[in-house]
Amino acid sequence: MAKANFEVPELQQYLDVPAVTPGTMAHSSPFVSRPEFQEPLGFLGELPDDWQARALAKFGELLGKYRSLRVYLDSCVKCGSCTDKCHYFLGTKDPKNMPVGRQDLMRKVYRRYFTLAGKFFPKLVGAEDFTKEVLDDWYSYFHQCSQCRRCSVFCPYGIDTAEISMAAREIMDSIGLGQKYCNEIIAKVYRIGNNLGLPGPALADTLEGLEEDVYDDTGVRVRYTLDKKGAEILLVTPSADFFAEPHVDGLIGYGKVFHEAGVSWTVSSYASEGANFGMFIGSYENMRRISQRIRKAALDLGVKRIVFGECGHAWRVAYSFLNTLAGPWDFLDPRYPVPQHICEFTYGLIQEGKLNFDKSQNDDKVLTFHDSCNVARASRMGPRPGGQFDIPRAIIREVCNNYYDMDEETIRDRTFCCGGGGGLLTDDLMELRVKGAKPRVEALNNVMVEKGVTHMAAICAICKSQFTKVLPFYGMDMEQIVSVHQLVSNAIVLTPGDDDEDEDIDSDAEGEDDVD
Ligand code: SF4
Ligand code: SF4
Repeated sequence: MAKANFEVPELQQYLDVPAVTPGTMAHSSPFVSRPEFQEPLGFLGELPDDWQARALAKFGELLGKYRSLRVYLDSCVKCGSCTDKCHYFLGTKDPKNMPVGRQDLMRKVYRRYFTLAGKFFPKLVGAEDFTKEVLDDWYSYFHQCSQCRRCSVFCPYGIDTAEISMAAREIMDSIGLGQKYCNEIIAKVYRIGNNLGLPGPALADTLEGLEEDVYDDTGVRVRYTLDKKGAEILLVTPSADFFAEPHVDGLIGYGKVFHEAGVSWTVSSYASEGANFGMFIGSYENMRRISQRIRKAALDLGVKRIVFGECGHAWRVAYSFLNTLAGPWDFLDPRYPVPQHICEFTYGLIQEGKLNFDKSQNDDKVLTFHDSCNVARASRMGPRPGGQFDIPRAIIREVCNNYYDMDEETIRDRTFCCGGGGGLLTDDLMELRVKGAKPRVEALNNVMVEKGVTHMAAICAICKSQFTKVLPFYGMDMEQIVSVHQLVSNAIVLTPGDDDEDEDIDSDAEGEDDVD
């Protein structure tokens, strides 16, 4: 079991709503971003003396821009439905981690400065001045929300705390109070092309290594190409897929599926990142700048289709906003959805009978599936409602003999966040991450005990990284989390290609067309 310098919650068989314990997570605050990460994103470098006036001006701007924000702040009736729905409250007991408690941090400032009653009778309507103490609370607790939207499913008014958190972070960024983890990563995307700062040559090495590995394992040449002009498909995938475990096993699987489909595909070194942290910080402009890189890569490479790999929030941004952020996509082949999820792609081939599997290759595992919150509650997949739940499960059942769902209160649109989403996947928030994972780990533990489940599959890079790190705090094995396309990769029966006898994987001929 991993050692913790905080108390790891005890797993229960049934969902335990804890007694409210104020202030338990008041100390939790991520590292503040430095000016060199703030400024490339268009934000102030650090907090100025007149931060309050600037923050209120930004707040007013957002209220004018996003009608939903004002509606959310006006419409809560304090019914209490959301109070026990957030994994961070369930894991930490802190009432400011109840969705309504989190919203009220913003609501009291809204009432004080943007409502008549709050201006004249602040005490009567719960309005408060925007003091430095309140700002510190914002910084702490709006970085204890993974923007998972679970609370909004249970709120009778559909109030979306995720959007309130995004707005709060945008206001704080605008006054120079950004979060280091997110903003450093976005700056890296602008400088190098991906969250991890992997330069083109490192990507090329990785992909070449994967080709070698797959050939050694299977005797089949599956291509993993970079910057291949004229490829049919541009794969946009989280950069964790290039090296982290179990992510890279998923990438191996995508390549095998493309091979069986007989389509050429490529990764772009310029847009080598599916993740879009612009969403986590609520910044439309940064979301747009990151998405525009995908458009440029698609145009430069002359691809006909765009397929997204396994990344929850990348799919949320792509599914919900890609056209607005970087469209129109009229230069792509209109016969295919833009964008398309790798699970849709694989499932389509399964339905057409074009993939062959040997399910017994996964017989060492009993699977369950974790619905990643951004896919579950902020997107869809395929032509039918609920496709985002059904398609990944259908793929898993196609490639595995042993599958069980977790408790229905914890899956599909009621799924619990892994605890590391929304820009919180950083070691400076480890206590929050471990405690926030409790409801999901509890449900996993129950199917392990009751059904003999050994592994949990996911289609989100953050979920995979988070579970790899936090499962050992609960006495579980980091290798229990797997990629859906890792299971596909294990079971798929590959068709030998024409060049399988080649000794040398020499892609120089393709390299002549490389993008600079
Ligand atoms: S969006 Fe998710 S993390 Fe944020 S308050 Fe709601 S349930 Fe909690
Ligand atoms: S469920 Fe909605 S209306 Fe009820 S307390 Fe929570 S946010 Fe307010």
